[in-house]
Amino acid sequence: MDHFDIRDGVMHAEGVSLAALAAAVGTPFYCYSSATIRRHYQVFADAVAGLGDGDPLVAFAVKANPNLSVLATLAALGAGADVVSGGELARALAAGIPADRIVFSGVGKQVHELEAGVEAGILQFNVESEAEIDMLGAVAARLGRVVEISIRINPAVDPRTHGKISTGGADAKFGIPWDRVPAAFAQAAAHPGLRPIGLAAHIGSQLFDLGPVEDTIRRLGTLAQEMTAAGHTIKRIDCGGGLGVPYRPDQPLPPSPADYAAMVARVTAGWPWRLMFEPGRMIVGNAGVLVSSVILTKDGASKHFIVVDAAMNDLLRPSLYNAWHDFRALAPRAERRVATIVGPICETGDTFAEDREVEAVGAGDLVAFMTAGAYGATMASTYNSRPLVPEVMVNGDAWAIVSQRNQPAAMLALDARAAWL
Ligand SMILES: *Cc1c(COP(=O)(O)O)cnc(C)c1O
Repeated sequence: MDHFDIRDGVMHAEGVSLAALAAAVGTPFYCYSSATIRRHYQVFADAVAGLGDGDPLVAFAVKANPNLSVLATLAALGAGADVVSGGELARALAAGIPADRIVFSGVGKQVHELEAGVEAGILQFNVESEAEIDMLGAVAARLGRVVEISIRINPAVDPRTHGKISTGGADAKFGIPWDRVPAAFAQAAAHPGLRPIGLAAHIGSQLFDLGPVEDTIRRLGTLAQEMTAAGHTIKRIDCGGGLGVPYRPDQPLPPSPADYAAMVARVTAGWPWRLMFEPGRMIVGNAGVLVSSVILTKDGASKHFIVVDAAMNDLLRPSLYNAWHDFRALAPRAERRVATIVGPICETGDTFAEDREVEAVGAGDLVAFMTAGAYGATMASTYNSRPLVPEVMVNGDAWAIVSQRNQPAAMLALDARAAWL
């Protein structure tokens, strides 16, 4: 469910007309609905409340949408954060997410990032390799701190999602193969500054099938029992994120948070450990749209092209994953036609949709790419020297620019002319 509805003939985000926003800030821009973000967080948090030791932690996966106001919206609801870089850690802390609700994941954390996490006093590091155990052990020793870690396992399951967002297969770069967990725990326990207290997994994104997730959580439980028997004190089990969102109205729905929580409840019944969850996409995916204008339409030899002012640098998912984003006119049109929707960038990959039946739009019309709140603005680049687009957040009848459009002059200011030129 989201809060993007047609009112008085034009798409609104909650109480704010997207056409009015377009007039105020120009296109393209991202717009987020804070009511939708709050609702999705609450639905998820309510679904998992009481599981495990009764005090689960929902740590929003910051990489899905790291905007400070998005994080602050979630912080106000008690969310934690799953960060994968020093930059994300800084954003989560700046947004007011307490350090003891922050978990640091990632396959290649650098020493300065490990130090930043240790100094901030975050809840735990999810460690993904034997080498990282020794790196973090050295950092903890140098800083004179004791750090709690979970071992992220590679469960060797097929999450049955798009290959580029599958992270749980045996040959994925993520985690430590599950059969090496006992050795990894022993290695960590030998570091005076490390306490191996948990197990973690995250098998992929846009998951529609709960079976592989269930197998993975069972595996975490079995390993936690084995590590307890081996004399370690297990405190937390991190189930990761990955729940899918509906991008296409004509396709079956992903499992709901209630379906997911029912599965977790069944698998974890009687577990004494604190459970952690790292949802990203399902919290923010449907809470954002990318608003754009049609620059012109043109007819090729056989295709009808709609050329919009947004491009692959603003919303990469269609080029990167062949992802589907619904394309709608802000002012609904009865007439429909088959079109190929492209941006202005000089790449054939700059295509949002190919030969899709959409509302018939023409030059100057305002349009929206739906379900763009996750992995949207955060993947943007300035390719073709296109400025990063602004992000706007709506709250009821109020709105605010929560990330500025950067200007061509600001981009140029980062460059320098070499002394010999
Ligand atoms: C990306 C990621 C998530 C979030 O995945 P979603 O599909 O957005 O829910 C959670 N945990 C880790 C470790 C991740 O890398």
